[in-house]
Amino acid sequence: MTSKYDVVVIGAGPAGYVAAIRCAQLGFKTACVEKWHDEKKNPVYGGTCLNVGCIPSKALLDSSHKFVEAQKGFQLHGIKADNVSIDVEAMIARKAKIVGQLTQGVKSLFTANKVEGIAGTGRLLSDKKVLVTKHDGSTEEIAADNVIIAAGSVPINIPPAPIDNETIVDSTGALEFKSVPKRLGVIGAGVIGLELGSVWSRLGAEVTVIEAMDAFLPAVDTQIAKEAQKILTKQGLNIKLGAKVTGTTINKGKAKTVTVTYTDQNGPQEAVFDKLIVAVGRRPLTENLIDEKSGVQLDKRGFVIVDDSCSTPVPGIYAAGDVVRGPMLAHKGMEEGVMVAERIAGKKTQVNYALVPFVIYTHPEIAWVGKTEQQLQEEGREYNVGTFPFSINGRAMAANETEGMVKLLADAKTDRILGCHIIGASAADLVQQIVIAMEFSASAEDIGLTMFAHPALSEALHEAALAANGHAVHMANKRKR
Ligand code: FAD
Ligand code: AMP
Repeated sequence: MTSKYDVVVIGAGPAGYVAAIRCAQLGFKTACVEKWHDEKKNPVYGGTCLNVGCIPSKALLDSSHKFVEAQKGFQLHGIKADNVSIDVEAMIARKAKIVGQLTQGVKSLFTANKVEGIAGTGRLLSDKKVLVTKHDGSTEEIAADNVIIAAGSVPINIPPAPIDNETIVDSTGALEFKSVPKRLGVIGAGVIGLELGSVWSRLGAEVTVIEAMDAFLPAVDTQIAKEAQKILTKQGLNIKLGAKVTGTTINKGKAKTVTVTYTDQNGPQEAVFDKLIVAVGRRPLTENLIDEKSGVQLDKRGFVIVDDSCSTPVPGIYAAGDVVRGPMLAHKGMEEGVMVAERIAGKKTQVNYALVPFVIYTHPEIAWVGKTEQQLQEEGREYNVGTFPFSINGRAMAANETEGMVKLLADAKTDRILGCHIIGASAADLVQQIVIAMEFSASAEDIGLTMFAHPALSEALHEAALAANGHAVHMANKRKR
């Protein structure tokens, strides 16, 4: 017998579980099919983000940062902490506990909202039917008035560096090392490569990051990217740019090592590592997901084709999160999940793709929203720039977090804020204030006229906004008014 739902969601990552909860809140009979399971074959919700992405990486980033603080930062505060050491297993166990709490949390939210979780792998058939293959191999067909595809993404593998889950790992394996590798190679200086490279570097690994592109973090505002490269290099990351990996050989000895060959401007090179992380990006997980009779189509790179409101050309079928175009970010997927649920309910909800905040959780954090200076130059737009360094922010000095700066870009004629770029402690939380301001079309003057608590890191936002109009108070202005 075919069960019938108002909405069936395929995938319970941030896009899927949020969509399912919102659909249920709106009164729809909702089921969510999820293939991730524990050893007892019970479904595990939360997707990449909660299980092997955002949360576990941040748990290890926070643990490793505390280790560095205890080793180097405490002394500056007059605190002596001799013989500081790490217990990698305890660190990994703590991370696993947090993941468990959060994935259980999604399960409780499903129960509270009456979302029916279905364990198994879903495949979209024709006529909005979904075939679920259970973990025991049995199948069930379910039908719905609406289907939301939220199957997410997986790491990209490259032929020169095949994952063996022992010496060569992807981002998931890099969250599970049992000890600190002495020499760690990372292929890819993207967000994930830099975050995971930072974790193990802080814990004592010699880290070499091999990046094919000549530019460091080309999507980031150039001034901020330069500052980031300087700071991360000072922290010990050996970042090789313009270096394309061409092959790997596993060396079998007492402990396995891996020889990586790569080509840079000086020709072929070689390096030997105890572990190698492949962090060259992610791809949508869409193979065997969609029967072409459903009418839903994939683009050349495997993304489900949707419009700005995440609708496929087939009425009643939507897709959200990493499985569709746009940045692969949990919060972007969550907003799309809400939008799709509300559109099913007849509302006109829209995601503002111009204001997606981006964060790289190194220390200091790198965070931005809106246009970079290089984008504005390419567009031939006239703009004002206001910057303020954390080195002269009182709270940053008190906390010994003086690295980095805030940079605010505003339209030269209208003063409307066009972008904000931060490298500094708590940049993720700071940039959010500007995301909200931009959502309300604020001008730099609006931020300048807003009262900020003192002393706070966010005063750097205030001063950068004042500086954009030549009015900074706690710094000499480059631009006078
Ligand atoms: P996913 O989270 O991938 O979830 C998809 C779900 O669908 C999975 O549970 C999967 O098992 C299930 N599924 C797939 N196919 C089927 C099927 N056929 N049937 C049933 N179930 C299926 N993003 C941020 O915003 N901030 C960060 O700090 C951040 N850090 C990251 C760190 C790492 C190491 C990684 C790997 C990623 C990070 N990301 C971060 C990216 C973020 O995790 C993803 O953008 C986000 O998880 C995408 O959500 P999603 O719901 O689209 O897909
Ligand atoms: P991201 O897409 O942000 O996860 O970053 C992945 C990075 O990996 C990009 O900067 C790519 O240029 C880089 N990359 C991809 N393939 C290779 C390769 N073979 N050798 C070195 N770097 C690579």
